[in-house]
Amino acid sequence: MDKIMPNRLDRGFFQHQQEFEEKALEVLRSGWYVLGKEVENFEKEFAAYLGAKHCVGVASGLDALWIAFRILGIGSGDEVIVQGNTYIASVMGITINGATPVFVEPDEYFNIDAEKIEEKITGRTKAVLVVHLYGQASNMKPIVDVCRKYNLRLVEDCAQSHGAKFDGQMTGTFGDIGCFSFYPSKNLGAFGDAGAIVTKDDRIAEDVRVFRNYGSEKRYYNKVVGTNSRLDEMQAGFLRVRLQYLDELAREKRATCEKYLDRMHNEKIMLPKIREGATHIWHQFVVRTEKRDELIRYLDEKGIGTIIHYPIPPHLSEAYQYLNLQEGSLPITEKYAKTVLSLPLYNGMTEEEQDIVINAINDF
Ligand SMILES: *Cc1c(COP(=O)(O)O)cnc(C)c1O
Repeated sequence: MDKIMPNRLDRGFFQHQQEFEEKALEVLRSGWYVLGKEVENFEKEFAAYLGAKHCVGVASGLDALWIAFRILGIGSGDEVIVQGNTYIASVMGITINGATPVFVEPDEYFNIDAEKIEEKITGRTKAVLVVHLYGQASNMKPIVDVCRKYNLRLVEDCAQSHGAKFDGQMTGTFGDIGCFSFYPSKNLGAFGDAGAIVTKDDRIAEDVRVFRNYGSEKRYYNKVVGTNSRLDEMQAGFLRVRLQYLDELAREKRATCEKYLDRMHNEKIMLPKIREGATHIWHQFVVRTEKRDELIRYLDEKGIGTIIHYPIPPHLSEAYQYLNLQEGSLPITEKYAKTVLSLPLYNGMTEEEQDIVINAINDF
């Protein structure tokens, strides 16, 4: 038996190989490669899937984030509230514009603790960035309320939550802007870099559309100093293929995780919890254990690979030394960084592979 990898992108390709290959040829033969009909159609289809008014494709999830804050006019001197335990890209989306991240501790579902937002609000706070981490929707009701009460912008980082809902509403549609990544390992993954923003605001959608293409509304007429963050036809075409199967792919992953939750029993290992009213699309299956180093070594010896999402919280990373936040400033975030471990999970995972992971966890 081959080693079981934490993720297997090849399996996802082979699940719909013929359609991906046909789409690749169609785009190659079309003679049009960047911002064309595949992108337009993907934008329409993804907006419809989410129940969002507009979707604008960009080049990556990070671009979606920083362009979102740029278009909202949030930058130097402004503060943005974000959870401490996130992928560093969420934070870079804030700091690229010169704004300051203000970190809030997570709840037991790995998402921002909505009760702890209000105490972090100052006169400089302009927005809350909610990250639906690992695929589970955050506790949106109190978050929307606090943003309303203090007149704050609400931006959602949905890089890990394509199709996850809170109270029946899609993540990405609660706030001013929803930011998506379609990096290959995401639940809706391309075969290269890709991203998008969604919004109900006509003006924001139009501003992002102009900004992503050198600030030009019409070719060679530049309205603002923009950037090059265009989505290409090949990636948009692949995303259209995969979007048709997104619910099916989510069901498959959910079945695997339900089996994990049902059959894994080990008092040294805490299994992930699901919030009432939230759906989880299982970007990652993240357990917690005080014996993480031993567990990693033990699973590796059994031919099972794992990953830590994420070993160093952004506030302690070298990149953010300038924020002057010491170890101990976010105890829950730091504890999660020391104890979380993502077990193998991917579309196209065999029953045999799942059983090997379950048995290994139970025998540890
Ligand atoms: C992947 C990811 C991003 C960044 O997306 P890219 O497409 O890699 O730029 C941002 N936030 C979170 C939570 C992510 O997981």
